[in-house]
Amino acid sequence: MVVFSDLDGTLLDRDTYSFAQAKPAMTHLRARKIPLVLVTSKTRAEVTALREEMGNTDPYIVENGAAVVIPGGADIVMGSTAAAAREALRKASEASGVRVRGFREMPLGEIRARTGLEAKVAELASRREFGEPFVVLEGDVSLLDAALRAQGFRMTRGGRFFHVLGGCDKGKAALALAAFLNDEDTLGLGDAPNDVVFLREMRRAVIIPSPHLEAMRAALPDAAVAPEAGPAGWNQAVLDLVVD
Ligand SMILES: [Mg+2]
Repeated sequence: MVVFSDLDGTLLDRDTYSFAQAKPAMTHLRARKIPLVLVTSKTRAEVTALREEMGNTDPYIVENGAAVVIPGGADIVMGSTAAAAREALRKASEASGVRVRGFREMPLGEIRARTGLEAKVAELASRREFGEPFVVLEGDVSLLDAALRAQGFRMTRGGRFFHVLGGCDKGKAALALAAFLNDEDTLGLGDAPNDVVFLREMRRAVIIPSPHLEAMRAALPDAAVAPEAGPAGWNQAVLDLVVD
């Protein structure tokens, strides 16, 4: 068995970014040697710091599926470079008339204000290798989406930001990793629309309640819903579903 989990709003509290309430279930998984794969829009630099805090040594998926990182092995790269994503976003914004503001344009202070991250963590968040997070300032998001698709890119929505991605998503990355691990018994947990693609690929899926709950239920009618939001709900769902 392999557990795939989103971070923000799922394993991490949406506001405090703490995973403290999920510790009993994380210990439960470790005792059973079940890998806990972090599947996130975060950068490699951010996940590296978090994994250390968590004592997690399993493979992980960064930047919305742009790369699968195998500790001690080679990355499985699935996405475009950050520079290509930024250029595609700039062109799509121009073509669609939708005004956007990318992560790269934001001073560290603005990233901190938008995310509530501490300065050190916000700096790690800014070290993007693949896609580009952004906010929409003005205009019809569906026009921007079409202009990105016309260039072979896609956009997806995370908890706080949109993300532009080239040729990758969390679902393709999760499938590639499940194949690499040669394990089809997968359990996935996520809270936001950018998790739907990977939750669909899981044998069992759990929705962590958030402001996106109704959209998530509609997209994943067979998924279970955790009894609480954030790491407390994650903890309960994993303890309920991972039984000997
Ligand atoms: Mg999330």
